[in-house]
Amino acid sequence: MLIESETLDCVTFQREVPGLVNTGADPFRHPHAQSCAQCRGLLEDIERISQSAGHPPSHDE
Ligand SMILES: [Zn+2]
Repeated sequence: MLIESETLDCVTFQREVPGLVNTGADPFRHPHAQSCAQCRGLLEDIERISQSAGHPPSHDE
């Protein structure tokens, strides 16, 4: 169901990301993320947002 290809384009990959996260997969391990710095940056943003939403830092003032 997921397209496992390094030639996957960024738009298609980013469309797959919510599905990857929902299945518990690590989108950073996807071949496209491994080869595309732009999408890795995007994943880092998504992770930072979801972490700040789900796990608020207890000692950050
Ligand atoms: Zn990309």
